[in-house]
Amino acid sequence: MPHRFALIIDPVAADDARDDFADTFTEVDAAAPALSVGELSTQRGDGVFESIGVIDGHAQEVVPHLERLANSARICDLPVPHQEQWRQAVAVAAAQCPPGEAVIKLILSRGVEHGPTPTAWVTAAPAPDFSAVRARGVSVATLDRGYDLAAAERAPWLLLGAKTLSYAVNMAALREARRRGADDAIFLSSDGFVLEAPTASLILRIGDRFTTPEPTGGILHGTTQLSVYDHLASRGLDAGYDRIPASDLARADAAWLVSSVRLAVAVTAVDGAALPVDHALTAELNEYLLSPRH
Ligand code: PLP
Repeated sequence: MPHRFALIIDPVAADDARDDFADTFTEVDAAAPALSVGELSTQRGDGVFESIGVIDGHAQEVVPHLERLANSARICDLPVPHQEQWRQAVAVAAAQCPPGEAVIKLILSRGVEHGPTPTAWVTAAPAPDFSAVRARGVSVATLDRGYDLAAAERAPWLLLGAKTLSYAVNMAALREARRRGADDAIFLSSDGFVLEAPTASLILRIGDRFTTPEPTGGILHGTTQLSVYDHLASRGLDAGYDRIPASDLARADAAWLVSSVRLAVAVTAVDGAALPVDHALTAELNEYLLSPRH
C-alpha cells in the first residue's frame, strides 16, 4: 500500500435501497490536497469520526464503530451515515492495508460552508508500533474535565457523547499530563467521578470486579471496552458499569486504558502513586484484541 490510502465517499441517504455503493467512492491521492478551504471540519472541527483497528487486513468491530458514528452524527444533527455504504467503504480500505496493524479512519464533516452536502472520507494507514507501551504500561495524571456528570443531559449542545473532530481539548489534556510528568491523562468530572482518558476508555479491577464508568456521563462508549467485557464474560468474570468516585482509582487492584488502535495498556501509576500491574492479564487481553473480532 502507499503510505496512506484515501477514499472520498459521496454520502447517500440512509434509506437508499441499493446493495452496491462502489460508484459512490472516489479514490484520491492521500498525499495530495483533497479538501476545499471552505471545509467546516478544518475551520471548526464540525464533524464526527471513528478510528478502526485493522489486523492483517481484517477491520475490527466494524458494526459497533459504524453504529457509534451514526450516534455521533445524530447528536450533531448531521445526516445519519448509510451503514451498508460505509461498511463497503471500510472493506475497500481494509483491502489496501498491509499485513500487521493498521488504522482506518472514517470522517463525516458538515461539509463546505454554504455547500449542499456533508463531506465524507475514509483513510487507511499503517498503525504506530504500540508493542513497547503495551508491555510497559502508562502513568496517568488525573485532570478536571470541567463538567459534572449531569452536564451531558442538561446541555446536549456540548455534544459530550459524540466522537467529534474537535479533539483540541483532548490533545491539550495529554500535553498537560506530560507537563505533570505522566504519559497520559484520566478525566474526572467536576463532581469527582472518573470519566475516561482523552483517547481511551478506562477499566479498573477492584477485588474480583471489573468496572468502567457508566457511559451516561457524557463519555464515549468504547468499542474496545465492550470487546474486553465480552472476553471477561466468556471467562466467567464479573464486569459491570458503575459511577466510580475518583478516590477508587488509588485503591484499584489493576487498571487499563483501552482503545481501538493502542489496545490495552496497563496504568502503572496515578498522580505519581504506583498501581499494581497485572502483566499476565494485560498480555492476555492484547492477544485477544489482536485476534479477528466482529
Ligand atoms: N474515549 C475517547 C475520548 C476516545 O477518543 C476513544 C477512542 O479514540 C475511546 C474512549 C475508546 O474508544 P474505542 O475503544 O472505540 O477506540
